[in-house]
Amino acid sequence: MGPEFQRIEAFVAAARASPRAPAGPGDDAAVMTRVRGETCVTVDAVVEGVHFRRATGRLEDVGHKALAVNLSDLAAMGARPRWALVALGVPRGFSIREARALGAGFGSLARESGTALVGGNVTRAPGLSLTVTVGGQVARGGALLRSGARRGDVVWVSGTLGDARLGLALLERPGGPAARRLQRHPRLARAALMRQRRPSARLALGRALVGLASACIDLSDGLVQDAGHLAAASGVALHLALEALPCSAALVAAYPRPADRARMAASGGEDYELLFTTPASRAPAVARLARRLGLPLTLIGQVRRGRGVHPIGARAGPLRGFDHLA
Ligand SMILES: [Mg+2]
Repeated sequence: MGPEFQRIEAFVAAARASPRAPAGPGDDAAVMTRVRGETCVTVDAVVEGVHFRRATGRLEDVGHKALAVNLSDLAAMGARPRWALVALGVPRGFSIREARALGAGFGSLARESGTALVGGNVTRAPGLSLTVTVGGQVARGGALLRSGARRGDVVWVSGTLGDARLGLALLERPGGPAARRLQRHPRLARAALMRQRRPSARLALGRALVGLASACIDLSDGLVQDAGHLAAASGVALHLALEALPCSAALVAAYPRPADRARMAASGGEDYELLFTTPASRAPAVARLARRLGLPLTLIGQVRRGRGVHPIGARAGPLRGFDHLA
């Protein structure tokens, strides 16, 4: 039994999730029963030195995040996760104990989300990387697309923005101004760190938006940039009220100046919230959904004729990303 084989065994044993796994892992290929409706498939990689550092990242968190970022893409499509495939790249000296830790983080989220690990592979690599492919199920014709926003629709965002970026600032600059301001608020600092280390995909929201949202995207690169993708795909302009962006207590404590936290919320990245549009007449249904899910859904703008993303509101200053998107 070679060391690579032992490591994939250790990862799989820790990550093995749902008893309703169609078949595998362990065979040469996974066998899956055909689903009713349609299957959404996506792939994303988490790479050492690019997405995390071994010095500040815990392997359980890395395993969790590698799956979470993919589940967020399924959430944006309105799909229910079904299965995942994992390709691991491991550096020399990566131990079985470390493979198990990585698998444990992946596995706890897999179980929670009903995602079955159906196969995996491991190769030697210069740094640690996890490439995760996930498949999810959605009713025929029900998938939420980026291209459905129409003039007169309104724009919504879930949860709060900028917290993951704040968490990154706390990790990278433990003596920086944000970290110093949060010293008296350890609970808020922990919450921001969790948003960075263990993001959660808005799966329940995504599924509930099928038939309600006209377009949807998940926020991985920052609100302004991802809103730009939705605007371009729909052939419309998004006018967003930046003062209306939902901010957490942690962001307010870390950035007392409204302009500073608006910048973090607008361009922070790694929020993994959903940005979506609905006809204006569906606002009461969105408000009911927010109550049912216990999740803030904030009206942040309008869909108008034109292209790009435009700030509205008195204090709308220039923001990173705005110039080339507008
Ligand atoms: Mg995405």
